[in-house]
Amino acid sequence: MLTGRTHTAGVIGSPIRHSLSPVMFNAAFVAAGMDWAYLAFEVGEGKAVGAMEAMRTLGLEGVSVTMPHKGAVLPALDTVSEDAALLGAVNCVTRRGGSLHGDNTDGPGFLDALRIDEGIEIESHACVVVGAGGAGRAVARALAQAGARVTIVNRSAPAAERAALLAGNSARVGGFADLAEASLVVNATPLGMGLGSDPGGRLEPLPFDVTLLAPGQVVFDLVYHPAPTPLLVAATAQGLRSVPGVGMLVHQAAHAFRHWTGEEPPLVAMRLAASTVLSERRAG
Ligand code: NAP
Repeated sequence: MLTGRTHTAGVIGSPIRHSLSPVMFNAAFVAAGMDWAYLAFEVGEGKAVGAMEAMRTLGLEGVSVTMPHKGAVLPALDTVSEDAALLGAVNCVTRRGGSLHGDNTDGPGFLDALRIDEGIEIESHACVVVGAGGAGRAVARALAQAGARVTIVNRSAPAAERAALLAGNSARVGGFADLAEASLVVNATPLGMGLGSDPGGRLEPLPFDVTLLAPGQVVFDLVYHPAPTPLLVAATAQGLRSVPGVGMLVHQAAHAFRHWTGEEPPLVAMRLAASTVLSERRAG
């Protein structure tokens, strides 16, 4: 039962009504027996700083941040993790008394999806990240920090160069010819997204020509809707191991849960909640 003592958290973004976060976090709070509630707030462009002030005033314990506010919240925060500052993107804000702290949990969430869910260690392996937007930069940096050899392939060269610079270590910019040499190929573009619910959608279904892939590779698609995505359908048809984006979605949220509550998240409940909604959307 919600009471005057219930702790509150939420997500800000626009559009936000499709967000899986309320379902995942509320399932987590119920499973953990915690007196918390999580809501979605539609916050339009240009209103991120105001939303952070509201977080302080209303005493929200934690806020997830999604498009288009991941960069815009930065000036409103008191402290920011090194990764979030370098990436210029915050997806998780934690209130500590009167001050607000920003993190980026996409990179750690991606690595947890690989390691915990799939049992894959990528240290010293060649990895290609296709796409160099917010998610691509976070994933490339996480892979490089974990000791992988990272190649970034992107439509526009300046974004690829920026991502390689942020990833550091041995990260470099490459082309589609590099796909054949990789142990792990990651799609960090939105291509293939929403095709199930938007048959007239403008996005191409595949981020690259799948015949460029080689036997034994793992293909990780950050896109989680539709499930499976056209890329993962094609990769599986070629006998390749495919990893859907829902695992990263769950694990980045799990990191937020830890930041806000200091407790270990109930991963099984979070995964079940997210998968159930995705299955319902596919069926609908
Ligand atoms: P973003 O910042 O908008 O970046 C999109 C990237 O895709 C850019 O590098 C862009 O290239 C490239 N791109 C866009 N349209 C393209 C096209 N038609 N052809 C070729 N390249 C194209 O988006 P993001 O935040 O990084 O998100 C990317 C995807 O990851 C989204 O589908 C998002 O839902 C998903 N995601 C999933 C998770 C998860 O937990 N599973 C977390 C975060 C994001 P340019 O640089 O040339 O514009």
